[in-house]
Amino acid sequence: MKIITQILGLVLFLGLLSACSQKSTTKSSQKKSTAVATSSIEKVIKTEEEWKELLTPEQFRVARGHGTERAFTGKYWDNKEEGTYSCVACGLPLFASETKYKSGTGWPSFYEPVEEEHVGEDRDNSFGMVRVEVHCNRCDSHLGHVFPDGPRPTGLRYCINSASLNFIPQAETAEKTDS
Ligand SMILES: [Zn+2]
Repeated sequence: MKIITQILGLVLFLGLLSACSQKSTTKSSQKKSTAVATSSIEKVIKTEEEWKELLTPEQFRVARGHGTERAFTGKYWDNKEEGTYSCVACGLPLFASETKYKSGTGWPSFYEPVEEEHVGEDRDNSFGMVRVEVHCNRCDSHLGHVFPDGPRPTGLRYCINSASLNFIPQAETAEKTDS
């Protein structure tokens, strides 16, 4: 009699267990489909070899290898021309010269991206610091970091590597629109 009770108990327990795991499976699959629906940018995916062919060694090291260029050595930290800064790897427009400001850090600094959804954010715990890493939302190339000590109106400082950017001067953009 005792054994039967034990077996019954086990069966009941297993039944509950499988009911629980079934429930959680349904939940996670629902989550997945929502994430796909909210992303409107079509990703650019290439192999490491393809990126290597497309980029200079320095661009590849910074943009694809999460590297950082040395301060005051990049192409654009002191660039005052008007135009658009796009992703060096996939060409997605990321920052406009109107939002670039002198931060004194030696890296191009902006207070906001051209489109919020063009720039993605990730938590970065490397080098014993907690920082927010920023990347191109189309090809996932590393851009730099965003800090909460920027100027108005956003109060943000997007500290970006020149090596991750390609600058397109305003004049060129205007010529293209005219023709
Ligand atoms: Zn990109």
